[in-house]
Amino acid sequence: MTQQTDVVVVGGGQAGLAAGYHLRRQGLDFVILDAGAAPGGSWQHMWDSLHLFSPAEHSSLPGRLMPAQAGRTYPDARHVVDYLTGYEKRYDLPVQHGTRVEAVRRDAGRLLVEADSGTWRTRAVIGATGTWSRPFLPAVPGRDVFAGRQLHTVGYRSPAEFAGRRVMVVGGGNSGAQIAADLALDGHVEVTWVTRRPPRLLPDDIDGRALFDVATARRRALDAGRNDTGGIASLGDIVAVPPVRAARDAGLLTAKPMFSQLTTEGVRWADGSHSGADAVIWCTGFRPALAPFAPLGLRGPRGRIPNDGTRALGEPRVHLLGYGDWTGPASATLIGVGRTAREAVREITGLPA
Ligand code: FAD
Repeated sequence: MTQQTDVVVVGGGQAGLAAGYHLRRQGLDFVILDAGAAPGGSWQHMWDSLHLFSPAEHSSLPGRLMPAQAGRTYPDARHVVDYLTGYEKRYDLPVQHGTRVEAVRRDAGRLLVEADSGTWRTRAVIGATGTWSRPFLPAVPGRDVFAGRQLHTVGYRSPAEFAGRRVMVVGGGNSGAQIAADLALDGHVEVTWVTRRPPRLLPDDIDGRALFDVATARRRALDAGRNDTGGIASLGDIVAVPPVRAARDAGLLTAKPMFSQLTTEGVRWADGSHSGADAVIWCTGFRPALAPFAPLGLRGPRGRIPNDGTRALGEPRVHLLGYGDWTGPASATLIGVGRTAREAVREITGLPA
């Protein structure tokens, strides 16, 4: 049976919940369909030692401050899951967990959302599926011949499983730096951190709050037709969270330039020399999880949907939240997604009935 509603939100992580908050305030009828069995989105799957790059009060969704975590300035992922679980309850958001959306189609003036447990007919759809389910691996020669273990950021849990091993951590972003630091500080793993460009740590006083301000200033400048300030990328790539700082200060966080290929036993460097390795952890980023939107034919370069603000250019009834700065300043952060969610819901409210 096909159900009717004003808006379907696809994905019930922080972006989906922020959308739910604003949809509720506007009095719209909606449902949030989330493939995950439990609340918390991708925070449920992050590695054991991961800490937020901002204090709790600067990591909040609209309406409800994240409480401080006892004994920590920068909360861990478990604390975020608890916060999102409480948020969902507090606003009584209609999240259907364990429901995977397979396709979004046009249907006689409406959109049809087909999920594994039912179909919804709706005026608008908000995509909030995140990127965690689409890890990106670069095409590096020899990836298929390496006999050791290969995993992506999404598969990393803790140093314990690499004790006594030689591990290459590939990637010059936050995940690469944090995982390299985690392994190096453990003291039982032989870690080599490998990056394509020299890693650029942000100044120690720049945390998630400052990043949000910088992203916002850039958006304002671009909207006003002023010169591009360069945003966060002009300052650096890696937030110096406490473990990264500790590893850096102990001289444990120096990176080597990218190897040229993998061999069965390890990696070959650009100068022809060879190092043995037991594992490679690819911290090489993500792509947006937009497969359910494929039937709408909206796909543009780099796996994205071309957009104006949160609205898909080719389909004004589809909005996108989270994913990255391309859907709004700091839209892929806890502090930033609230504002893009408000803008999306404001536009949806103005759609013809
Ligand atoms: P997700 O949390 O991934 O939620 C998406 C949800 O959609 C999931 O529950 C998934 O099951 C569901 N879904 C996917 N496909 C479907 C489908 N077809 N049908 C139904 N449901 C579907 N941000 C900060 O603010 N502070 C930080 O310190 C910080 N640290 C980070 C560290 C790492 C390692 C990473 C990767 C990101 C970090 N971020 C941080 C960025 C960001 O806040 C997180 O990535 C956040 O989880 C993104 O939320 P989201 O709701 O967009 O996506």
